[in-house]
Amino acid sequence: MVNIRCAVTNCKITNYNKPPGVVFHSCPSSKEMRNKWLQVLKNKCSMLDWSRSKICSKHFEKKYFDSQRKLRENAIPTIFTFSSNSKMSKTDSPIERTKVDRLLSRMNQAQLSSDIKNTFNKIKVPSNLDIFITDDLKCKPDSPIEAHLWLLIKKQDYLNGMLTSQLARNKKQVETLHKNLDEIRTHKKDTEQNIDTLKYIVKCLQEKHATLEEQIEILSAVESR
Ligand SMILES: [Zn+2]
Repeated sequence: MVNIRCAVTNCKITNYNKPPGVVFHSCPSSKEMRNKWLQVLKNKCSMLDWSRSKICSKHFEKKYFDSQRKLRENAIPTIFTFSSNSKMSKTDSPIERTKVDRLLSRMNQAQLSSDIKNTFNKIKVPSNLDIFITDDLKCKPDSPIEAHLWLLIKKQDYLNGMLTSQLARNKKQVETLHKNLDEIRTHKKDTEQNIDTLKYIVKCLQEKHATLEEQIEILSAVESR
């Protein structure tokens, strides 16, 4: 089966996962209809190929289908959000992420950690924080919101520290592995050289052996005279 997927960016329908009754429709061929489609699809599709792109039937209102469930000539896709009982998850869509998510995704690791450090330096730990903390590292129910936030920040900071040191350990292990690999390679080279030397010695001994045999033959010939 050819892999067909709906050209609408936030629609995850493919020919492998499409619910019963959902079909794919080709794009219109007339210039007039293509212009109308383009008006509605230009912000909904990352790519639109008139001859190849398919739009699934979920994007068309009922009025655009005839009695045989065929798409009418004047049909335009108009439905791009799905009801909550549908499998489409609105949070999946990059369009509907929050402003914070959007801005965060633009930052790299270094920018983010320096930003967090700067924020830390500006905030002072509440001096009486400990009195709000239970023995299982939670905030007591009547604690002020600042205590909740600070505990969360502290936990996150501690976790970051753990992750950073884990990262450093991993890096060291990788370095050791590389070093071992280099040693093995050098050792292999030495062994190969030793084998070559041994082969040479064997060759010399064989030659010597042949010479000795020749000499013995000559000597025995002389003796038999
Ligand atoms: Zn679709």
